Amino acid sequence: MSFWVENPSLRIPLYRSIWKFVDFLFPPHCAGCGLIGERFCSECSQQVQLLEGNICEKCGEPITNFQHNIQDCYDHLKNLKMIRSFSFYQPPISLAIQKLKYHRDIGIAEVLANYLVELYNKNKVDIDMVIPVPLSQKRLHDRGYNQSFLLALPFSMIINKPIKKQSLRRFKDTISQVGLDRHERLINVSKAFIADSAEVSGKNILLIDDVSTTGSTLEACASALKIAGAKDIVGLTLARAVHTHNGFSDQLNDAVTAQKF
Ligand SMILES: [Zn+2]
Ligand SMILES: [Zn+2]
Repeated sequence: MSFWVENPSLRIPLYRSIWKFVDFLFPPHCAGCGLIGERFCSECSQQVQLLEGNICEKCGEPITNFQHNIQDCYDHLKNLKMIRSFSFYQPPISLAIQKLKYHRDIGIAEVLANYLVELYNKNKVDIDMVIPVPLSQKRLHDRGYNQSFLLALPFSMIINKPIKKQSLRRFKDTISQVGLDRHERLINVSKAFIADSAEVSGKNILLIDDVSTTGSTLEACASALKIAGAKDIVGLTLARAVHTHNGFSDQLNDAVTAQKF
């Protein structure tokens, strides 16, 4: 991607300075608790529950959780090497993600991207490029921006890898995944993406998304990338909605808002 500063080492300081200036003009409210003056305050940061320890090697969900079957993950996520997520999808980080997605609080992306960097450094994956999970043209038009791109842009600048958002496109407008089970989610997004083989062939790709639940969207992206000749594909997400006795933990939080967007 071409960018307004050619020297990579200057991009992230400039990007942060711009946001500091915006914060100076328009003091932000914490996306977790509403505190004035910070985009995500230190108290909310401390409450983010990290997803680590005994997790599924394939999908990254805690394997102590409700009915987790690792073989199912290998069958379901055939084209992804693995998925890793920074934290559980629960307040305060779920509130921050909802503000980013549904309430145009785009400044929070620069803060949340640091969590993705932490996750990337912890997992030491070897990648050639970063690709945000794309939105359909219709959803991009309705929302005005792709939240995954807003996370992936500062992330790619910090880790100093190219971001190639044009290399993967979503050409099928799918319904929201919220409320669907794993099988329905996979069918909903299958064959929704197409990748540019000139860009991705032989390359190791890091896919970035805000939230993963069953991994179906990331798997559909990985499938398109593999068809285009990509080598290894890893998915990193900020948060992970885990299985509960009632379905998935994103359903309670997002069921109402997702219908609107
Ligand atoms: Zn806060
Ligand atoms: Zn798993």
